[in-house]
Amino acid sequence: EQKLERVRQQVRSFPDFPSPGINFRDITPLLKDPSAFCTAMDLMEAHVRKCFPRVDVIAGLDSRGFLFGPVLAQRLGIGFVLIRKKGKLPGPTESVSYSLEYGKAELEIQTDAVDAGQKVLIIDDLLATGGTLWAACQLMKKKGAEILECLVLIELTSLRGTEKLKSVPIYSLLQYD
Ligand code: 5GP
Repeated sequence: EQKLERVRQQVRSFPDFPSPGINFRDITPLLKDPSAFCTAMDLMEAHVRKCFPRVDVIAGLDSRGFLFGPVLAQRLGIGFVLIRKKGKLPGPTESVSYSLEYGKAELEIQTDAVDAGQKVLIIDDLLATGGTLWAACQLMKKKGAEILECLVLIELTSLRGTEKLKSVPIYSLLQYD
């Protein structure tokens, strides 16, 4: 609890960013505080070690999933792969499109990033409506990977992202309304 509080203290809010009515949770103070950042990673690592005897790969979401995913993967002694917005990855890729509040977006993964049957943890900084993690899960399913869980630093509970993700387990360190 004390450790979680240390992490929570380094998340700040910006009302009306990036548009009116949105209360943006900013994780940059956490990244600037090596001790609090280390505590957040300790908590994530302890959770993963406790719940999953075997994880093959961590898949991180563009772009803030890239801040936490490689650190966790290094601690677990496993690899990290990138799930990116469309058009950023070279070579053969597979993609999934998903709807945003206005319009559509696409996520992509390199075809050789994960193998069928591999046990994957998907990581991002924050779960809001769940659209982004949902698309990431579709990509992993397309590849035949086994999704163990989606792991986030922050969950915005009132947006009910866990319902959108249905059968996929979600774990968050911090929850906000
Ligand atoms: P969702 O697809 O669940 O609606 O939105 C989650 C995605 O949007 C994540 O990739 C996350 O980085 C970004 N996002 C949405 N709202 C916030 C926020 O308040 N703070 C941060 N740090 N990221 C957000």
